[in-house]
Amino acid sequence: MSETATTQKPVSFKELGFVNTREMFQAAMKGGYAIPAYNFNNMEQLQAILTACSRSRSPVILQVSKGARDYANATLLRWMARGAMEMMKEMGKPVPVALHLDHGDSFELCQSCIDNGFSSVMIDASSKPYAENVALTKKVVEYAHPRNVTVEGELGILAGIEEHVSSEKSHYTDPKDVEDFVKKTGVDSLAISIGTSHGAFKFKVKPGEKAPPLRFDILEAVEQRIPGFPIVLHGASSVLPGYIEMINKFGGKMEGTAGIPEEQLRRAAKSAVCKINIDSDGRLVMTAMIRKVFSEKPDEFDPRKYLGPAREELIKMYMEKNEKVLGSAGRC
Ligand SMILES: [Zn+2]
Repeated sequence: MSETATTQKPVSFKELGFVNTREMFQAAMKGGYAIPAYNFNNMEQLQAILTACSRSRSPVILQVSKGARDYANATLLRWMARGAMEMMKEMGKPVPVALHLDHGDSFELCQSCIDNGFSSVMIDASSKPYAENVALTKKVVEYAHPRNVTVEGELGILAGIEEHVSSEKSHYTDPKDVEDFVKKTGVDSLAISIGTSHGAFKFKVKPGEKAPPLRFDILEAVEQRIPGFPIVLHGASSVLPGYIEMINKFGGKMEGTAGIPEEQLRRAAKSAVCKINIDSDGRLVMTAMIRKVFSEKPDEFDPRKYLGPAREELIKMYMEKNEKVLGSAGRC
């Protein structure tokens, strides 16, 4: 389902009921927590994210990646997000929701999202030379800010594979670049590389081994150079061992997986880290539950009977993240 060109007139995120990330991040900075940024590609994930955040009274950033736009169709995703906002209003007091482009890789893609109701975009030019990263990020900011849309930039490269983004090795963010980058580009938040990683296989580990700890020394050095500036962590799933066990128990084969321990994320959330991206854990939950139903009920053929339990489990997992890891529950 590829994206089709649209000629309709631009729509502002405000008309759709979204907010940008500015106030969310200020409150998170003051309160010592992080805003969850959860990716969605389909209806069940979207319902689960908003239901969980509404129940736990957590602000949330709904993330759409380029891969999600290619998979589900950009126009449909935008209307799904808008419909979900209406659903949430009917459920009672809605929580603040930002609609965010994850890993935008060109000015044109960011522009298209801004014109189509996104309240926040990421321009990821971190793989380009520094001067090009600055120039492209600045160009997106100059288009976004007059429309009140917030922009996330990135310095440093995360290892791992996330759809269109992949790198074998991580390149930690060099703290001495951050001040110059933020000043020259005008970005509202900055994704940095301190040892988090995309995907479910974040580190090569043997059974019983743990992942290497995050580089809090780099985070602290960054904070000293740009005090009070919102920092973003990508690739921050914990690759929850319970769901890996479930996947393997019911016919799957995922070995040597490891993620970021939740206590390290909690520590990061208390610092200048204002946004934590979690995608892989949601994928694992869905896969584990669907495998369980297929294994226990081999005659089941109604998608509602396996996607439904997956959705329920997702709600549970997201609520736990908000409460125990990000600290964002009960904040609105
Ligand atoms: Zn990412």
